[in-house]
Amino acid sequence: MAGYDPRQSGDAHRREPPDDLCPRPARLPPSDTEPAAPAIHLASVYRCTSPGEAARLLSGEASGYVYSRDGHPNADMLAGRCRELHGAEHAAVCSSGMAALALAAIAHLQPGDHVVVSNQLYGRSLQLFGSELPRLGITATQVDSCDLGATSAAVQPATRLIAVETISNPLLRVCDLGRLAELAHAHRALLLVDNTFATPVVCRPLAHGADLVVESLTKLMSGHSDVLLGLLCGRTDWARVVSAQSTWGWSSSPFDCWLALRGLGTLALRMERAAANAVAAARLLADCDKVERVHFPGLAGHPDHALAARQFGGQYGNMISFTLRGGLPAADRFIAAAARIPFCPSLGDLATTLSHPASTSHRSLSEDTRRALGISGGTIRLSIGIESTAAVLDALGEALAGV
Ligand SMILES: *Cc1c(COP(=O)(O)O)cnc(C)c1O
Repeated sequence: MAGYDPRQSGDAHRREPPDDLCPRPARLPPSDTEPAAPAIHLASVYRCTSPGEAARLLSGEASGYVYSRDGHPNADMLAGRCRELHGAEHAAVCSSGMAALALAAIAHLQPGDHVVVSNQLYGRSLQLFGSELPRLGITATQVDSCDLGATSAAVQPATRLIAVETISNPLLRVCDLGRLAELAHAHRALLLVDNTFATPVVCRPLAHGADLVVESLTKLMSGHSDVLLGLLCGRTDWARVVSAQSTWGWSSSPFDCWLALRGLGTLALRMERAAANAVAAARLLADCDKVERVHFPGLAGHPDHALAARQFGGQYGNMISFTLRGGLPAADRFIAAAARIPFCPSLGDLATTLSHPASTSHRSLSEDTRRALGISGGTIRLSIGIESTAAVLDALGEALAGV
């Protein structure tokens, strides 16, 4: 193997004191076979052979790694898989979904620019556009991005970005990505889509005309609630993205990347099972008289059902929300009785989990704003898992019986 030095593993070491032997970096033993599973490259720094090589590596003239904030093999393996899944030209794996969104904004916007954002974005995303970026001179207007007329009216001459979610939280509203892309491009703006709730199994926003896609890999993509990572992919000027990512320090952990790539191996299977379970669970909830309203784009009564059916080719994902009659006291009883559905304010685990938007993801909103969005104390969000359909329906039935 290139670079392997037999003196480092032979008898010569016996005469060296532990003080000198132990700190020496270990080298990979030579092997003619390739491991069937990827290695975890935890190294934060790589050896350079000469100043000339270091300069070529750091300028991007030569391919290879120098410092893991600039790039490492596990991030590149994961980014490559995600790039193919989305049919993207470029992909960057970031330390979290929020890091990916911040990177998208910082790499593509300037002071004086304006952004049109969906009023149903993830809470921290609304904070990024509503509180953090204005401090840098980048302003935002919130709109209902399912209303194309309102979205169009919110565009200003300085608008450079429209930011929406494929499937929104927690009411699972779906917006028309093709029409939003046309609107953005007519104004020389980019369309950014947070595709976390859909994953590329349900939707590939770039194929609908989006320029940038953000996903929290923490959720369905890695699928086991044990990593924190984000993805930014797209077809914009990527030199800006690469430079901003390392400069702002939004790089990823090799171990998390390794786990996420492993999780991706079962993405399609997990989504298939969870989506089938979600259809059955939505029907059960819709038939229960303790439930006032079910929000699931797969149900004919959902306001965006026809659009979702067309845009997602008959798939609707694994997320369901519903509102119980009786407000917060009813939700408290449901959650207490849901012995087999843990209250975990995240999504995309193997197991079915629930969340309570009014007390978690949407707690910072006023009650009036929550009511305007359709979220009450009785609203519960389910992330349906990959258990058998019977087990999911049983667990839900048990919780409903306790209300
Ligand atoms: C969780 C989430 C994020 C943020 O991702 P992190 O990995 O937690 O930083 C962004 N958007 C949506 C829709 C999310 O669910």
